Amino acid sequence: MNMPEASFLAWQKQFSTEDDCLKYLQQMKWLNGFICPGCGNNHSYEITSHHLYECTQCKKQTSVMSGTLFHGSKITLNQWFWAIYSLGSDKGSISALRLSKLIEVNWRTARLILKKLKTAMGHRDSLYQLSGTIELDDALVGGRQKGKRGRGAAGKKNVLIACESKDKKAGFIAMAVVDSICHFSVNEFVKKHLKQGQQVHSDALPALNIIGQTENYEARVTPGYLVDEWLPWVHIAIGNLRTFLLGTFHGVTGKYLQEYFDEFCYRFNRRFIEKQIPNRLLNLAIIHLPVKST
Ligand SMILES: [Zn+2]
Repeated sequence: MNMPEASFLAWQKQFSTEDDCLKYLQQMKWLNGFICPGCGNNHSYEITSHHLYECTQCKKQTSVMSGTLFHGSKITLNQWFWAIYSLGSDKGSISALRLSKLIEVNWRTARLILKKLKTAMGHRDSLYQLSGTIELDDALVGGRQKGKRGRGAAGKKNVLIACESKDKKAGFIAMAVVDSICHFSVNEFVKKHLKQGQQVHSDALPALNIIGQTENYEARVTPGYLVDEWLPWVHIAIGNLRTFLLGTFHGVTGKYLQEYFDEFCYRFNRRFIEKQIPNRLLNLAIIHLPVKST
């Protein structure tokens, strides 16, 4: 489904007040009218001073924010909506420090907002499983120094990456941080992110052999000069990822890597519709269950 493209001015116009944001949330959450989460009744009184709705039947009070990504948040919807626009519209992502200044919250709050949004991005993409011809490879990324494959340089993490190969372009990608590249982690990754029985290409790393149990697997020893022939798209994706991690954050350490991967994949997978990302992310926040604050 196509979503509206959002320019800065259009966003500012649409969501200039807290009330605008509240009304939008209300419309999207209760498309077919109010539904009580307690008893399913569809009649309520609005307690306007607190943006609460009280069920006429069981008297349960519900906030329009409950059950969404905004659940339990102390900041205003307006601040949330601008956080979504800032993250969604900037190709190079946004740091917690910059976001904290933009929406006037402390660093810790900004960090938490970003964590919640990126977690939702990851969940959204995990609903999709890659299919067709898929290139799969491992890499060592993160940290602040160059590292060699398999040696676990400081702050660096092993990553598994899969990318659909659609003739002259890349399709969807999936990435996951793993403790080590072994049969167990590869198998988990394949089960989660790939449909069964697809055509999977990789280099001949022994730990990847397990892919053959569920997929049509073809491994080729791939010296550097042949990588562009056998695994072109997954290597472009790894290159883009490294640029992304270095560009905005001057290197990201292991702890937060999965979040940044989730964001990178979400954006990569929507690169042909990138102007729709703010609206897509906003709607995702509305339909997504709350993410823990810890
Ligand atoms: Zn009720």
